[in-house]
Amino acid sequence: MKIAIIGFGAAAIGLIEKIKNTGAEIHIFEKSHDIYSSSISGIRADGKLFVSKEMGGDLNIDLDLQKKLVDFWIEKTGNGHFERGSSFANMEFYKHFYSKGFQPIISDFYHLGTDQLKEVLFNIYEEYKALSNIHFHFGQSVNKIEVSEDSVKTDDGSSFDKMFVAVGRSGHKLIKAIINEYPQIVLDSTKVDIGVRFELPNHVVEELNREMYEFKVKYKSKTGYMVRTFCNNPSGYVVTENYGDFITVNGHAKIKEKSKNTNFAILTTVQLTEPFNDPIGYGSNIAELSNMLGGKKVILQTYSHFRDSKRTKNLYRVQPTLDPAKYILGDINLAYPRRIIESIIDFIENLDEVVPGVANADNLVYAPEIKFYSNALSNQTFDNLKFIGDCSGFTRSIIYATAHGYILGEKILKD
Ligand SMILES: Cc1cc2nc3c(=O)[nH]c(=O)nc-3n(C[C@H](O)[C@H](O)[C@H](O)COP(=O)(O)OP(=O)(O)OC[C@H]3O[C@@H](n4cnc5c(N)ncnc54)[C@H](O)[C@@H]3O)c2cc1C
Repeated sequence: MKIAIIGFGAAAIGLIEKIKNTGAEIHIFEKSHDIYSSSISGIRADGKLFVSKEMGGDLNIDLDLQKKLVDFWIEKTGNGHFERGSSFANMEFYKHFYSKGFQPIISDFYHLGTDQLKEVLFNIYEEYKALSNIHFHFGQSVNKIEVSEDSVKTDDGSSFDKMFVAVGRSGHKLIKAIINEYPQIVLDSTKVDIGVRFELPNHVVEELNREMYEFKVKYKSKTGYMVRTFCNNPSGYVVTENYGDFITVNGHAKIKEKSKNTNFAILTTVQLTEPFNDPIGYGSNIAELSNMLGGKKVILQTYSHFRDSKRTKNLYRVQPTLDPAKYILGDINLAYPRRIIESIIDFIENLDEVVPGVANADNLVYAPEIKFYSNALSNQTFDNLKFIGDCSGFTRSIIYATAHGYILGEKILKD
């Protein structure tokens, strides 16, 4: 069987791991020029590997399989180095957050770090490259595909028995082109997470960082929107992400180099109903408006100014870890809808009751931070075309994406 995999990220790796010894001829098309410029979600991922039923994607993935895949990634470090934590394993913390209206999310996780994740990817690539049935095609962005009953073709005319599209979120242009051609594959498209990146001194959240590393909570705000923490980075760094048309903010932590601040996202899930059908357009427009005000930079504001809708002109005790060339002091209220701002403020004020100091006036708020959900795509429409990982709309994490590839690989073996 001749198989094409588009994209070499977490989902592709899960799939290859399962089918590499079947004798199938596997061709991997990756738009990055080589393995050095390639990486899981474009090298920005922080390498936190979660084992949880409550987050990471909308698939039911057995916890044993999740842990097995964590062990796989850790083994590929070659040195076994990682940091570890458990979110809300300690019931005292659980009850404390719960009593103030928060829904704590239980998960175990293993942190490899951005720096180490790159080495892991390289090690995996070297191993696959040595197999005679695996062929890498770097620098080949697939922009269009054609499905017929007995084959699937890429835009350069190569023909395959089966194709797995594993392009993550950065492959949204290819997904859009496929949806235009085959609109029947779309299952759902109404959600987007819009929020801010919050940064504060380590000592304010020291106990939480020590206890859990990543604390994850959800909260139903007074506006009715669900708000959640996401991607907590103790001693981490705030960074920007360039989507081409706009720039957003993000955060990560390294295994070796440490800062004095902790950052995490506070995200509001905006779920709109008919006739709304363009969550990516909605989020992109808000991001573009923020960038317009920030002169193509992200906006940074102190928390009290964010709450009181005043432009920030000076910072006080908390100094940003984001490169000064990448932000401008301003007022996020000029770009974000009121309901989102109110939801975030409500979240922070309530969190301050559980973790005093979170609502300190000089803590930092960055925008835009936006997480797009890919459209949920059907894997039932075509026998020879499957979507795995984040581009399928069913996963949002390294382990869920790896597992999705792995499970679909298992399915080919059975069919
Ligand atoms: C900043 C950031 C931090 C994150 N941190 C974490 C974390 O700590 N823990 C966690 O579990 N998850 C994290 N995630 C999410 C996680 O990285 C993704 O859920 C996961 O990588 C999805 O795997 P994937 O295989 O679907 O896509 P990806 O890993 O993104 O791989 C997709 C691949 O497809 C390639 N590609 C795209 N388009 C094309 C095309 N047209 N033709 C050919 N190739 C193409 C890309 O170059 C890429 O190599 C983070 C994401 C981001 C953006």
